[in-house]
Amino acid sequence: MPSTSLTDPKKSYGIHVWGEGNYIVEDGVVKVNYGSKPSLIELTKTMREQGYKGPLLFRFPHLAAQNVRTLFNHFERAKKEFNYQGKFKAVFPLKVNQFPGFVIPLVEATKDLEYGLEAGSKAELILAMSYTNLGKPITVNGFKDQELISMGFLAAKMGHNITLTIEGINELEVIIKEAKRLGSPTPKIGLRIRLHTGGIGIWAKSGGYSSKFGLTSTELLEAMDLLKKHNLTDRLSMIHFHIGSQMNHISPLKKAIREAGNIYAELRKMGANNLRAINIGGGLAVEYSQQEGQSSRNYTIEEFTNDVVFLLKEIANAKGVQEPTIFTESGRYVAANHAVLVAPVLELFSQEYSEEILRLKEENPPLVQELYDLYCSISTKNAREYLHDALDHMESLLTLFDLGYIDLTDRANTETLVHLIIKKALELLRNKPSKEIKAILDRVQERYLVNFSLFQSLPDYWGLAQNFPVMPLDRLDQAPTRSASLWDITCDSDGEIAFNIESPLYLHDVDVEKEEYFLGFFKVGAYQEILGMRHNLFTHPTEAIVRFDENGDYFIEEIIEAQNILDVLDDIDYDTKEIERRIRQLLEESEIIQEDERKEILGELYLYLSENGYLRTINFSEGG
Ligand SMILES: *Cc1c(COP(=O)(O)O)cnc(C)c1O
Repeated sequence: MPSTSLTDPKKSYGIHVWGEGNYIVEDGVVKVNYGSKPSLIELTKTMREQGYKGPLLFRFPHLAAQNVRTLFNHFERAKKEFNYQGKFKAVFPLKVNQFPGFVIPLVEATKDLEYGLEAGSKAELILAMSYTNLGKPITVNGFKDQELISMGFLAAKMGHNITLTIEGINELEVIIKEAKRLGSPTPKIGLRIRLHTGGIGIWAKSGGYSSKFGLTSTELLEAMDLLKKHNLTDRLSMIHFHIGSQMNHISPLKKAIREAGNIYAELRKMGANNLRAINIGGGLAVEYSQQEGQSSRNYTIEEFTNDVVFLLKEIANAKGVQEPTIFTESGRYVAANHAVLVAPVLELFSQEYSEEILRLKEENPPLVQELYDLYCSISTKNAREYLHDALDHMESLLTLFDLGYIDLTDRANTETLVHLIIKKALELLRNKPSKEIKAILDRVQERYLVNFSLFQSLPDYWGLAQNFPVMPLDRLDQAPTRSASLWDITCDSDGEIAFNIESPLYLHDVDVEKEEYFLGFFKVGAYQEILGMRHNLFTHPTEAIVRFDENGDYFIEEIIEAQNILDVLDDIDYDTKEIERRIRQLLEESEIIQEDERKEILGELYLYLSENGYLRTINFSEGG
């Protein structure tokens, strides 16, 4: 057996599978592999010393910028390799993350590249118009009304390099009308094509003939006729498709590129002389897996870029048209790894089981007595056997309770003893790995109560069963001994990340009354923040940007504290003044409250209302 302890090699939590070199485990802690390499636990403690409580979201702008550069570098490399004549450009699709703490540093860090923003709604277009570096591309996708289209004309007047991608003929008709009304400059026009090729996975509706979006072949011909008739053919500059997010296989993309490449060539032959770009949308997948051999995608970025460039070159050459500008809208790939959620563990479910709480009687049922004897005499030699016996006895005792033969005290003693035996056995067997022990470990899980809301911070886990890499921030030099299921603090039973034997999570046995234990959830920077729900009225966690200077020293900046309770209520349209008034009145009219304590009670209440709703943990650094 190659591994040295029960749960090794999970001590590194698959960081070599998902980490892309951005995080490293050193000295028992996980560190950001950049600059002075701060550990996440150090960043967390710094924030908590400043009084920020509850879960924390750290943003690392250097990672988002690095992803964009990786994308550009790989396309440039592939272009050289295949002697490709077209350009490469890209936009960030705002729907993936619209938060200022992400978008503003991103556009700042990519000024030198042909990199802009993609908008799918009026609000997103306003963001794109405000923050895109002038001259860099803006694309607008999704359904549009006359208002959204005239905003596009405004953007063009401001000097923006904007392309309105039409999803249907009616949108083109509105553009034609607006061009007459508003005059030039008319934004560039893109055509979203309805692919014959289907989309993929859970996002299949993005592509294919049943897709929500795009023009059929007949509609493309119709669009060309309309453009010609209104002298707008020269504005047609791009065709576009998007086959869905988190493509796990490369083959549907290859099929889509062949289809789009041929449509591009055909439209050019029909006189679309300014049609220069093929926008292949997003979908570039992120590696979320923590297990070797369970990769989330069957291709590398190298293969992806090679395939795109090679295929487009082949088609353009075969059809005798110029090689198109390649345009991408990768969102998940750019944003996912820039954010890490850190949440404190509040409680281990079995922690309440200690020897002191046993209520053994003078005379116990024989099986309970036997459990107690097992507990007292368990040793490394017999641990496995005793563990089995204990689990068997528990089954029997629970049946006896159901049948009315033992009482509640006996049942409580059973629960406590079995938990104590499991704990002791795992401790004794920690350096004796075996399949069987692993099987037992996987059966008897520890429940970790974590101070966060799954609905707010990992909605795709809830909605799409999307796993995110998770690991403790410290103790990484010790083997974890407990198979863990994670519970959030909402009162919803769906707020659980259950132990999964396919991708098991093992954590440390900690006494959270004495020491803190933090979990990091990685790659939460794409989609999670804006999809997050205020289930139970939990709000966005406190967030902070971590930046590095030229010397590699880090700074924690632009801290945005989680919303307080009154603000959350205000957001869902409660009159918070009315809430305050009602509560104050009830307190004032209460006959239980003495005159002299009223002021104090009111003060305490206002304190609660002014804080965020996450649970408070003891701050050990303050010795309390
Ligand atoms: C959502 C979306 C994207 C981004 O997809 P990712 O999988 O995040 O890369 C790109 N283009 C369009 C049109 C989209 O709707």
